[in-house]
Amino acid sequence: MEGALTARDRVGIQDFVLLDAHTNETAFLDNLKKRFSEDLIYTYIGTLLVSVNPYKELDIYSKKQMDIYMGVNFFELPPHIYALADNAYHTMMSEANNHFILISGESGAGKTEASKKILQYYAVSCPSTTLLDSVRDRMLVSNPVLEAFGNAKTLKNDNSSRFGKYMDIQFDIQGDAVGGHILSYLLEKSRVVHQNHGERNFHIFYQLVEGGEEDLLHQLGLESNCQHYSYLVQQDECANVTSINEKNDWKTVRNALSVIDFDESDIQHLFGIIASVLHLGNVQFEADSKGYATLNNNTELRWVSTLLGINVQVLQEGLTYRKIEAKTDEVLSPFTVDHAIYARDALAKAIYGRTFTWLVNKINDSMENKEPSRKTVIGLLDIYGFEVFYVNSFEQFCINYCNEKLQQLFIQLTLKSEQEEYEAEGIGWEPVQFFNNKIICDLVEEKHRGIISVLDEECLRPGEATDFTFLERLEEKMGSHPHFITHKLSDKKTRKTLDRGDFRLLHYAGEVTYCVVGFIDKNNDMLYRNIKDVMRQSKNAIVRECFASTESDSRRRPETVASQFKSSLLGLTDILMSKEPWYVRCLKSNESKQPGRFDNVLVRHQVKYLGLMEHLRVRRAGFAYRRRYEVFLQRYKPLCPATWPHWRGVAAEGVEVLVQHLGYLPDEYKMGRTKIFIRHPRTLFATEDAFEVC
Ligand code: ADP
Ligand code: MG
Repeated sequence: MEGALTARDRVGIQDFVLLDAHTNETAFLDNLKKRFSEDLIYTYIGTLLVSVNPYKELDIYSKKQMDIYMGVNFFELPPHIYALADNAYHTMMSEANNHFILISGESGAGKTEASKKILQYYAVSCPSTTLLDSVRDRMLVSNPVLEAFGNAKTLKNDNSSRFGKYMDIQFDIQGDAVGGHILSYLLEKSRVVHQNHGERNFHIFYQLVEGGEEDLLHQLGLESNCQHYSYLVQQDECANVTSINEKNDWKTVRNALSVIDFDESDIQHLFGIIASVLHLGNVQFEADSKGYATLNNNTELRWVSTLLGINVQVLQEGLTYRKIEAKTDEVLSPFTVDHAIYARDALAKAIYGRTFTWLVNKINDSMENKEPSRKTVIGLLDIYGFEVFYVNSFEQFCINYCNEKLQQLFIQLTLKSEQEEYEAEGIGWEPVQFFNNKIICDLVEEKHRGIISVLDEECLRPGEATDFTFLERLEEKMGSHPHFITHKLSDKKTRKTLDRGDFRLLHYAGEVTYCVVGFIDKNNDMLYRNIKDVMRQSKNAIVRECFASTESDSRRRPETVASQFKSSLLGLTDILMSKEPWYVRCLKSNESKQPGRFDNVLVRHQVKYLGLMEHLRVRRAGFAYRRRYEVFLQRYKPLCPATWPHWRGVAAEGVEVLVQHLGYLPDEYKMGRTKIFIRHPRTLFATEDAFEVC
């Protein structure tokens, strides 16, 4: 066992904890690079897994590989995502508690791939009964469906997740995967109506248009040419992606839908919605003599009306007028052309966004396990990574805020809590310094003072507030904050100047300049009440369900997008805090998505902001395992005659006698106030092996 642990495999060291004590960043990077060049993309820091995106298919994810990793002690085999999945699973089974695996890294680093591999591992390798196979199949196929509707090509990643996903995989007492539940976070709806140059809309649109059968397209009034749909064309062209095969993906999605209990009418309604969004994008308005928007003899509108089962006149009115409630009655106020386009796009986003939520609910129904028996869960968190584009908007602001929160959680659960525990247990300890990003989280989310509060306040002044008054407010309130930079101050704080409509945040992962244009609008996410009423009359069952809430009756102002997102992230933090954490840190090897290229500067930057060096220092100085004395004694007491069958004294003393008997060396363990701390996993593994023999 000793050999397996300390063996320096030919190509670098598989656990950074075993690297020389004074490892600096350069040595850290060298080790990663050496391994990467041999296609060894995984390396540990203790139980944390670092993964470097190889941008090529590696032959390490076969069933055979899964079998190799099953039930084997973590450090006995080369690092692998399966080892982490397996270790989480076995810990869950032996301790009967809940766990989560947090997968982080920037966009394109490999988070979604990692989460799929973990899910596959559980689906394939856990014990199985035929009864449960259907649940597993559904869990597996939920992925391509959600990816079709929630992923898109961006400049960073051809298959970028444009929503956050947390999935609980539920296991019963026997360890069978028996159910699943997904929570989704903030879909980037704006993509439905607009994409930046070189990016695309959500995959499903292209899959349907390019992969859909002739009959189906005919029924939906679609042409099999993406170029025809203005929501798919930006600046006269439709972005092309060589890595994607729409026809195959279409088949996969169609097949998946039937696995997750979609009947024919669901499917018909679902594709009716996708098609109606495409038609809606092609609806054009003309100005009448007074400059108001009109819609004459519009074929596209008739398709929308047919597909959604809404009277064409009613739909037309909903797109060109707004109902204003006066004291006693309602007045119809006509739209200008610009306003009508705005209302049309808002409707397209609303239909798509709500359908996505409906889809997640539907998938959840199909994965639900109704047995009341006790279950434990492993949660998988795959959420959009830190993003910096040439132009960053409200969406990037939300995504990067989310990454700040997850970094904060990591700090709370590992760096901070680890050190606090040593202190509380009275274990001698030299504190490790790390950057605590709480200051940035506060800057964004603090009540009454944070950026979200300022934005919400501005959104409360319709007609008066603009994106620029929002920026002014920010400058007044945040101007002196060390992580906030306005164009007025940019000369002083950094050498790079900002445009008038920009503000910059110094995130833990780097600086990002945000353009305020669209912030107010996107945060309000307004849909006029009368168009909602129109949607409620839809004969398309999904649309009707999606709009059938009571919101139009209540006069209360709906929560803003940023506030909703903030509360859902707080909810997520609570979910995660109650579980045991495991971490996968994904690194991007190069910006051009090329196999085999390891860009030192890029990787170094990620190693830095992900806090991997700090994590290593905490791990190295610390203890891999800790157990309460009572628990430790209870489990291992058969290994020592003095503690078997009962130890009559204080548990801590019993443990001392026990480990002396087992021959633990003095620097391998420490006795805290309530727990024993064991430095290396190998020590515990040896004890565990002895236990199994006895
Ligand atoms: P993220 O979710 O972090 O934005 P993805 O998981 O979608 O990134 O990965 C982006 C792309 O990188 C994938 O589409 C795939 O081509 C490649 N990739 C990621 N992880 C792996 C892996 N383990 N093996 C091979 N290719 C990978
Ligand atoms: Mg992803």
